[in-house]
Amino acid sequence: MRIWAVVNQKGGVGKTTTAVNLAALLAQRGKKTLLVDADPQGNATTGVGIEKPGLKATLFEVLTEDVCASNVIIETSTPNLHCLPSTLDLAGAEPALLSRVGRETLLKDALAEVHDRYDWVLIDSPPALGILTINALAASEGALVPLQCEFYALEGLSQLVRTLQLVQKRIRPDLKVAKVLLTMYDGRNRLSLQVEEEVRDYFGDLVAKTMIPRNVKLSEAPSFGVPAVFQYPTSKGAEAYASFADEVLADA
Ligand code: ATP
Ligand code: MG
Repeated sequence: MRIWAVVNQKGGVGKTTTAVNLAALLAQRGKKTLLVDADPQGNATTGVGIEKPGLKATLFEVLTEDVCASNVIIETSTPNLHCLPSTLDLAGAEPALLSRVGRETLLKDALAEVHDRYDWVLIDSPPALGILTINALAASEGALVPLQCEFYALEGLSQLVRTLQLVQKRIRPDLKVAKVLLTMYDGRNRLSLQVEEEVRDYFGDLVAKTMIPRNVKLSEAPSFGVPAVFQYPTSKGAEAYASFADEVLADA
């Protein structure tokens, strides 16, 4: 089984879009896949078509009340794709976890129960390096880092790498950067080319060959609660995520 956390403390770089669409593609290719939504915004939950108001329990109860993950995980309308959902409740996790012993490894411990049911676990994380992202990293062997091709793409990256190294040193020795994915790429734009060059210099082979173009279909699909790769399978964005999934599976 593979567990990857999709991380970048920068907001709006394509973490959720990547988590939802990669999870959908892995499931479509027959991999039993769990999408964990570790962001209080709950965008990944909505993105796979789960209605948040009807949820009895979410990741919040798993982290704060030791509710079993298996009691919270729900099936999505996509075969092989399950989701451990979140709602805005999770925003209260930070203070609620302050007094909990071992608070950095609560997600890791919770996922141990369902470990053998999945081929892949992808964890979507919030735009911060707080306790939720630490839990996501501590539960994972790989970090998948989406980087938006814009001027500030590399800013804050050293902080992310430092956090990753700390988790690796103290909690999870096998944690590494699994892939860096360039998102919202525009090959006609000199800035995109510049960012690509800098990121490839810095991360070398860890950078996926596939780059995700800026494509409006990727931003429209969430409103239908269907991953873009299913809603608009022939769009440029969906095709790029399909080729990224090929790369991920080829390496795995
Ligand atoms: P947050 O940090 O708030 O969780 P995020 O990193 O998860 O954000 P997304 O929610 O995936 O980022 O993307 C931010 C916005 O950009 C969303 O509206 C999404 O639909 C849109 N978007 C993501 N990827 C692309 C793309 N390749 N082309 C066009 N729009 C995109
Ligand atoms: Mg997000």
